[in-house]
Amino acid sequence: MHREPGPGGSVEVAARARGLTKAYGSGETAVLALDAVDVDIARGRFTAVMGPSGSGKSTLMHCLAGLDSVSAGRVWLGDTEITGLRDRELTRLRRDRVGFMFQSFNLIPTLTAAENITLPMDIAGRRPDQEWLDRIVDTLGLRDRLRHRPSQLSGGQQQRVACARALLSRPELIFADEPTGNLDSRSGLEVLTILRQAVDDLGQTVVTVTHDPNAAAHSDLVLFLTDGRIVEDMERPTARAVLERMRTFAGGGPQGAGPGKEG
Ligand code: ADP
Ligand code: MG
Repeated sequence: MHREPGPGGSVEVAARARGLTKAYGSGETAVLALDAVDVDIARGRFTAVMGPSGSGKSTLMHCLAGLDSVSAGRVWLGDTEITGLRDRELTRLRRDRVGFMFQSFNLIPTLTAAENITLPMDIAGRRPDQEWLDRIVDTLGLRDRLRHRPSQLSGGQQQRVACARALLSRPELIFADEPTGNLDSRSGLEVLTILRQAVDDLGQTVVTVTHDPNAAAHSDLVLFLTDGRIVEDMERPTARAVLERMRTFAGGGPQGAGPGKEG
C-alpha cells in the first residue's frame, strides 16, 4: 500500500520544486510566502501539508500545480518544467494531469452540481467514464443534489462537488486544499477515503493541506511548513505523532509563547 522507492533508491516524482520562492507585493509591504522551498512529491503517494495559518500551504499548492507564478526557483510537473512554460502549454498540461480542490471550492454559480463536476472534461472535449462518475457521485452522497446550483447546497455539499470535479478525469496528480475543512466528520472521512483509494487503487498522487491530525494520518508523508519553509517531514504519520509535532511547533499556542525560532 505504501509505495517504496524503486531500484537504486530513486522515487518517481510527480511534482518537484527547487528554490521555490514566492513573494507578494513589494517594498515595505512585501510578504515572503515561500522561502526557497525544495520539495519532491513522490508519485503514487498521499502527501499531507500542515502548518500554521499563513505559513504558505496554499501558495505552495498553487505554485506546484502551475496555478500561480513563482518569484524565483523552478517547478516541474512530472518531467516537464512548468516555470517558464507558455500559458497555453501550461493550461494544457494542467488540464491533462492535475485536479485541484480549492479551499474556496471555485464552483460556477450558474451551473448545476452535475455541470460543475463535468465542466473541466467538457472544456477538454473529453467524455467522462459514466461508471466512474456514478461511483464518485454515490460515494460522495451527491446523487440527489446533482440538479442543484451551488447556492442551494451546504458548504459540505459544495466541498464534495469540488472533490468530484477534481477526481472525475482521474488526473495523475490531485491537489486538495483543506478538503475536509468544511465537512462534518462523516463526510470528511468519505472524502479522505476516496482520496486514499485514488492513491491505492488507481496509483494517483495526492497532495492535501489539512489542520486535522486525523486527516493527516491518512497520508504517507506529512510536510510541516513554517514561515514559508518546510521544517520537517514525517513518514507514515499517526494522528498522535502529528498532534505531538503540532504542539512542538505551536510553541504553546497560536500566540507563539515558545522561544520563537521563526524570525
Ligand atoms: P496558508 O495557506 O498556509 O494559510 P497562504 O499560502 O495562503 O498560507 O499565505 C502565505 C502568506 O502569503 C500569508 O502571509 C498571506 O497573507 C500571504 N498571501 C497569500 N496570498 C496573497 C495575495 N494574493 N496577496 C498578498 N499576500 C498574500
Ligand atoms: Mg490556505
